[in-house]
Amino acid sequence: MAYEIKKYNEGTWMIEDLLSETSLTRFFLLAGNERALMIDAGMNTKNAKEIGEGILKEAGLYDKLITEEKPMLIAITHGHGDHMGGLAAFTELYMSQTDYDVFEVGKNYPDLAFHPVKEGDVIDLGGRVLEVFENPGHSPGSLAYLDVENRFLITGDSVQSGHIFMTGKGGMEIFGGSLLNLIKNTEGRFDQVLGSHGAAPLPGDYLSQVYEAWEKVMKCRNLESTPEKEGIKVAEEQLNGNTVLDYDCGCCYFYCSAQ
Ligand SMILES: [Zn+2]
Ligand SMILES: [Zn+2]
Repeated sequence: MAYEIKKYNEGTWMIEDLLSETSLTRFFLLAGNERALMIDAGMNTKNAKEIGEGILKEAGLYDKLITEEKPMLIAITHGHGDHMGGLAAFTELYMSQTDYDVFEVGKNYPDLAFHPVKEGDVIDLGGRVLEVFENPGHSPGSLAYLDVENRFLITGDSVQSGHIFMTGKGGMEIFGGSLLNLIKNTEGRFDQVLGSHGAAPLPGDYLSQVYEAWEKVMKCRNLESTPEKEGIKVAEEQLNGNTVLDYDCGCCYFYCSAQ
C-alpha cells in the first residue's frame, strides 16, 4: 500500500496511491475554515481517511476541523473502484445519484449517509466553496469539482493525461458535448486542472486540448477523416479480454470500443 503525499498549496494535498511502477490513482484532501473533505479515496488505500487525518494533525488543523459532530467528508468524482478503495471508513458521502445507482454504492456501503450532488450544487467547507459540474462520458455520472477560491478544477478520470477510458456504451459520443458544457460553465474560473491519473497539475487550457483531441478521434470514428490526416495514432489492443482502440492524441489518449 505505497502512497505519496504531495502538498499542492496551503490547505490542499494530493495523495497518490501507487498502483504499479507506472500507474497511480490520485485523491485529494481539502481543508476549509470549518470542515475537511477528501475527494476520492484511492484504490489500495483502505486507510484513506486515516491518511487524511494524519495530514491534518501534522498541519495543526485536526482539532479545529474534525470532531464527532464534524467528521471528515468525502466527495467522489465517479463510481469506479480505483476511486472508492477507502470509502468504507467515512460517514458522509457526496456523489452523483447516477453513479451511486449504477455502481450500487448504497448496497455496498449501506452505512454511509448519501448526499446526492448535481450541476450547480456547492459544498461549503467554510471560506472555501466547491462547485459541482457534471461531465458524463467516462462514467454516466462523472463529476468535476471547482475550488472557487483556489482556482483549480478536479476532473477525475474524465480529463487527465493518462488513458481516458471511454469503453462504456455511448460514453465517447456524449463526452464531447459534456466537456464543452464544462468548458463553457467554468470559463475563466480556474488556472490548473487536477486529474486522477497521469501528471498533475495540468494547465488551465487542458480541457480545450482534450476537447480538440476528442473531435479528431470522432472524425476518424465517423469515417470523415483518417488518423494520418488528424495527426493522431490508433492501435488495436487487448484490455481485460476485450479488443479496444487506443487513440494517441499527443496530449492525451482515449481507449474506445472497437468499431
Ligand atoms: Zn474511472
Ligand atoms: Zn480512475
